[in-house]
Amino acid sequence: MLSYWETTHFIAYDVIIIGAGIVGLSTAASIAEKHPQKKILVLERGLLPTGASTKNAGFACFGSLTELLADLRSTPETAVLDLVQERYLGLLALRQRLGDENIGYEGLGGYELLGEKELYALDELQRINHWLKAIFPKDVFVLENDQIENFGFNTQKVKALVRNTFEGQIDTGKMMQSLWGYVQQKGVRILTGCEVLAWEENPQSITIKVQNQATKTHIDFTAQHLVVCTNAFTPQLLPKLDIRAGRGQVLITEPLKNLRFKGAFHYDEGFFYFRHVGQRILLGGGRNLDFEGETSTELLTTKPIINYLEELLKDVICPYEPVTIAQQWAGIMAFGATKQPIVQWHSPKVLLGARCGGMGVALGSRLGEKLAVMLLEKN
Ligand SMILES: Cc1cc2nc3c(=O)[nH]c(=O)nc-3n(C[C@H](O)[C@H](O)[C@H](O)COP(=O)(O)OP(=O)(O)OC[C@H]3O[C@@H](n4cnc5c(N)ncnc54)[C@H](O)[C@@H]3O)c2cc1C
Repeated sequence: MLSYWETTHFIAYDVIIIGAGIVGLSTAASIAEKHPQKKILVLERGLLPTGASTKNAGFACFGSLTELLADLRSTPETAVLDLVQERYLGLLALRQRLGDENIGYEGLGGYELLGEKELYALDELQRINHWLKAIFPKDVFVLENDQIENFGFNTQKVKALVRNTFEGQIDTGKMMQSLWGYVQQKGVRILTGCEVLAWEENPQSITIKVQNQATKTHIDFTAQHLVVCTNAFTPQLLPKLDIRAGRGQVLITEPLKNLRFKGAFHYDEGFFYFRHVGQRILLGGGRNLDFEGETSTELLTTKPIINYLEELLKDVICPYEPVTIAQQWAGIMAFGATKQPIVQWHSPKVLLGARCGGMGVALGSRLGEKLAVMLLEKN
């Protein structure tokens, strides 16, 4: 039962967005920037964002050499190039909106470690650099094998090192905190602990049913438009979409005495990734060890994958110094038949933006901007 005051001040909005991940918050930011007078509400089921955006590795990346080559084997060249451009523009947009300082951006470059089985990629390096000149002013990929020993990697396993001069990394927590603050400064209301159960659309408005934990009942919010930014959890609301969950498991070490590398690193065709966080190493990945088991929305780590990550750390990445694991966690990504994100009208009043795969840091701001433009074109 709501009070008169609640009904008059808390319930009705121009736009309601479900999901306070990078896509939901970027959409709120883009709408608020274009139309400051719009009443916008973001509804988040978790007390914190509870998907991928506060759990990720913080790579500001757009595709490693082997990943782009793999994409080119299955996808038309123009589509791959388009996606690289979207990711790169998305990163620039994020940096511009919030500022490098506020997202902890470090433009140290990215690297890919090649083992014996990925050395084929070096034959394609110049061709890919030439192809990427459509977007980047100079060569993206440069061979830096002399760094393999300097960085302390196991030279039996790592046969080549390719540097990507345009990659960087962010402090994921700092970025999300800044984005959260930014949209609130723009007048957007964010409510957490609010799980959207369902909605009902009619010609005048849309009614959104939200679980109220305190009373064990629900509250009906209303809006002119709804934007669904629930990523891997979208099938719970809209079951027929091509969205498949993909869990990502991550660990972080205690600070090392003598960490020998800085930057963001891809390994084994991008299935593993690691970076420095101060004097610590953050390492994640390994979905390829159990694709089926990792098609899960459960925010849990599993022993086989964490053990594998620990082995990789000791054997390949940091064989020169003992490491202690400080913390481990999991986040949930969304994948589909293609790597193109979904940005579409689901119905006359409901927009959908989801499925950034493993590159939502890069794509999130672009998706938010597109969703905002689509929405405002309707008005
Ligand atoms: C381990 C890991 C590492 C990654 N590393 C990188 C990286 O280095 N670089 C990169 O670019 N990308 C990376 N990604 C991918 C990136 O994090 C995601 O693509 C991006 O965060 C997706 O953002 P989103 O807003 O679409 O989804 P999410 O962040 O998942 O947000 C969706 C939100 O919707 C909420 N929600 C769901 N259902 C409901 C409901 N019914 N009612 C209310 N709220 C609901 C969820 O709680 C969640 O907070 C990584 C992902 C993971 C898991």
